[in-house]
Amino acid sequence: VAYASSSSPAVNTAEAGVVVPATMKAWAYDDYGDASVLRLDEAVAVPAVGEDQVLVRVAAAALNPVDSKRRAGKFKATDSPLPTVPGYDVAGVVVKIGSKVKSIKEGDEVYGNINEKALEGPKQSGSLAEYTAVEEKLLALKPKNLDFAQAAGLPLAIETAHEGLERAGFSAGKSILVLGGAGGVGSLAIQLAKHVFGASKVAATASTPKLELLKSLGADVAIDYTKENFDEQPEKYDVVFDAVGNKLSLAAERPTKQQTPSASPDNASSFWGSGQGEKAVKVVKEGGSVVVLTGAVTPPGFRFVVTSDGSVLQKLNPYLESGKVKPLVDTKGPFAFSQTVEAFSYLETGRATGKVIISPI
Ligand code: NDP
Repeated sequence: VAYASSSSPAVNTAEAGVVVPATMKAWAYDDYGDASVLRLDEAVAVPAVGEDQVLVRVAAAALNPVDSKRRAGKFKATDSPLPTVPGYDVAGVVVKIGSKVKSIKEGDEVYGNINEKALEGPKQSGSLAEYTAVEEKLLALKPKNLDFAQAAGLPLAIETAHEGLERAGFSAGKSILVLGGAGGVGSLAIQLAKHVFGASKVAATASTPKLELLKSLGADVAIDYTKENFDEQPEKYDVVFDAVGNKLSLAAERPTKQQTPSASPDNASSFWGSGQGEKAVKVVKEGGSVVVLTGAVTPPGFRFVVTSDGSVLQKLNPYLESGKVKPLVDTKGPFAFSQTVEAFSYLETGRATGKVIISPI
């Protein structure tokens, strides 16, 4: 298979004494589609290393919904050409550095989200492979207390949680409602709001079995979305962080007495209707912010697309190393590299608790 950024001869990196092969094992797809388009390719070219990049020997990778949406062809217009090796999140060891790399050296244990702009030309050669090439500025040193599998689950999700809170102007003393608190992003939004930004009050939603988890992450109030409608509570928040979007329909698959639509067209449309956007804006204080990650946006809500930034990871490392902020790894995993299709199918149920990890690679 020919990839645009391929290098061919084996490279002997003198300092680390590591021989980088010309080809590697990687998951790849040639056409857009469901998880069945993925195939394990035993001989993909190891990506060339640009002058501002390092080559990482991947130890662990994490799956994100954006991998699935991209593979489904939702971002065709701005995607890199097929075939694609998917994967945004990586943790591993640096085995080669580009000529302009300043602070990372061979042998460093690093982690990061390899695509600076999630949807604008994501790399053709991603992290679900033995090697991936990444700009130095997108990486940080792996927190010392975390193993590669734990670290791999953090970058995209924690960058999204952090950027969303910053864009919403979140700060100490403010209150927040996190919709989707048990997911990859939500579990970190709760922790960052509480333990890094100094929230006065954190509320979050999940289904019944996950309510205790929300509390353990730092939520003061855990709302069971299968039993109560978050927008029917009197409380209003400075910020609503919506990591669920149009998945309201999933909740609708588990109707309860309170949620059953009445004959009133208004109720019916908010129950079956266009997602949580319009509900989220009902519970934000006047002048507050509603951050939306996916789906329709109702003013004053706003949506953004995450930017990868190693300096954000570096800034958060002390909170990770002190254990104030903890990675949440879904316990169905980590999945073996050979089980990547199963791991994607699991992620795509929308029921994962924290991150779906592939390790070792
Ligand atoms: P996950 O797959 O990790 O989310 C799974 C979680 O969602 C489960 O724990 C599930 O809990 C919860 N969930 C599902 N439906 C509901 C509901 N109605 N109410 C509350 N919780 C619910 O996803 P991520 O956290 O990784 O991503 C969330 C969304 O944000 C995705 O659509 C993703 O594409 C998007 N995203 C957007 C970014 C951007 O830059 N704009 C960046 C990152 C993510 P339960 O089983 O209890 O329902």
